[in-house]
Amino acid sequence: MPAAVYLPGTWLLCLLAAPWPAQPEKLFHIRDHSDMEESALHRAEPVTDLRSAQLFLSKYGWTEGSSGDPGLVKAITKFQSFSQLPVTGQLDEATLAAMNRPRCGMPDRQPMSKVDPLPLTSGTGPSAKVRKKRFLQLLSPPARRQEQEPGPLRARGQRAFSRRLLRWRLVGEGYSGQLSIEEQRFIFRLAFRMWSEVTPLTFKEDRLSPAALIDIRLGFGRGRHLGCSRAFDGSGQEFAHAWNFGDIHFDDDEHFTPPPSDKGISLLKVAVHEIGHVLGLPHLDRTGSIMQPNYVSQETGFELDWADRKAIQKLYGSCEGPFDTAFDWIRKERTRHGELVVSFSTYFFRSGWYWLYENRHNRTRYGDPILTPIGWRGIPSRDIDAYVHVWTWRRDERYFFQGNHYWRYDGDHDRAYAEDERGRSYPQLISEGFPGIPSPLDTAFYDRRTQLIYFFRGSLVFAFDVDRHQVDNSYPKRMVDAFPPVAPPNHPFRDIDSAYFSYAHSAIFFFKGNAYWRVVNDKDRRQNSSLAFNALFPKEYISQKWFDICDVHPSTVKMKEQNADRSIG
Ligand SMILES: [Zn+2]
Ligand SMILES: [Zn+2]
Repeated sequence: MPAAVYLPGTWLLCLLAAPWPAQPEKLFHIRDHSDMEESALHRAEPVTDLRSAQLFLSKYGWTEGSSGDPGLVKAITKFQSFSQLPVTGQLDEATLAAMNRPRCGMPDRQPMSKVDPLPLTSGTGPSAKVRKKRFLQLLSPPARRQEQEPGPLRARGQRAFSRRLLRWRLVGEGYSGQLSIEEQRFIFRLAFRMWSEVTPLTFKEDRLSPAALIDIRLGFGRGRHLGCSRAFDGSGQEFAHAWNFGDIHFDDDEHFTPPPSDKGISLLKVAVHEIGHVLGLPHLDRTGSIMQPNYVSQETGFELDWADRKAIQKLYGSCEGPFDTAFDWIRKERTRHGELVVSFSTYFFRSGWYWLYENRHNRTRYGDPILTPIGWRGIPSRDIDAYVHVWTWRRDERYFFQGNHYWRYDGDHDRAYAEDERGRSYPQLISEGFPGIPSPLDTAFYDRRTQLIYFFRGSLVFAFDVDRHQVDNSYPKRMVDAFPPVAPPNHPFRDIDSAYFSYAHSAIFFFKGNAYWRVVNDKDRRQNSSLAFNALFPKEYISQKWFDICDVHPSTVKMKEQNADRSIG
């Protein structure tokens, strides 16, 4: 781990101009929990009566300027309804209890644009000007799909960052006194990564660039803090707030804890919530959503809810291809009664990473992608061209292809064979193992119906007969002839990325870029006899069928192994 650096506040200006100091200050950080005791001095003023309730309702956007009794009853009613309480219009016990629960400082109803951002670099210096200008540039027009879809997101006039790579920093004068600096940074890295797993955004921790280049700055403070216009209230109630497209502040009078602790307030959960605000999300009153305004106590391995994923994708779109290869991995398992059953897992590979796709939930496994060598041993660490599973009554062999070579994979021991039972060592040249097949390949797949391996290169396809160990006599063919378009000229024609038989959909898919073509199957032909064998339906978008296959910033790709808290599998 890199040495943690503590910078006194006065160093900040030097830091803006100068690179990182050669000799970091010695870390002085003792895990002393005596300050966890709630002191009367730092405790938030509870909501107990009409006056304090009115302040609360006004602070969180429920009063809409009307101050009289009818306005207050209306505000209480709306707050009760939003908080899923019995709607009485009275300041009853349940309502007071809800008002006193730990919560985010962002208004529930007020459009966030009404809150003036006051970034950490506020002031009259040149950096403030630069910052302001950049802030305006960041406010891109709403995405077109947003304009078309009515609903709370559009009603609040939300906007989004226009760039896809965002830089963040835990500011030097804003460290928490409760967790080590390394713990704080780790938790924030994980929180940003959780959003990047479901959006085309990536987040980079940047400790060196001038402050004006940092998109999102995070810091802890107590009471009046970090030059912010909004003071914290002490322990209890408000635990953090965020400025739209700007900074996130955490109330260090709260007892923040790292995962997997079940005490205090999970810093990870609060950080994920506040990052949601910075990215443009409002509060959502949906059980399970990370964007609920109140803190919901810890449960291990929490993840972004379907509603959170869909809300953020409305602002930033879905993750798109291309992929190097995709395939279903078949497992044969015996049930308790000795019955042999076949199950499968779907994998997508890109560059040096892979994702396991959960067809049942229609999303990738939480915490993916993972580096290829961690899950697949003995094959090239990146840029796999194809996976082929030859599966007949007599044979059960799995192969990976890359460049001019192929590897046979041992599913029982979960690694590539150095040498198989026939004494053949790997990697082998494709030209030797599959005579007549060119290399490098675009992709390949095994078709169980015909017991042929289809190899693709450029605009040609080669069908390899695994029993006769040679290319079928009628091949090579043009892809457009072997897999003719259902609706000409809608066809990939050449250079496809991947071809794969999906057991979940009982169909073959061709991938190219961010698009896919589905191959006509037997069921389609029973329903419509005019469809040609192996014809290709018109192009569709991968992101509309397979969700959340998203890149993360490379600096966070190894986090899964470091984080025992999140579910694996
Ligand atoms: Zn919030
Ligand atoms: Zn603040």
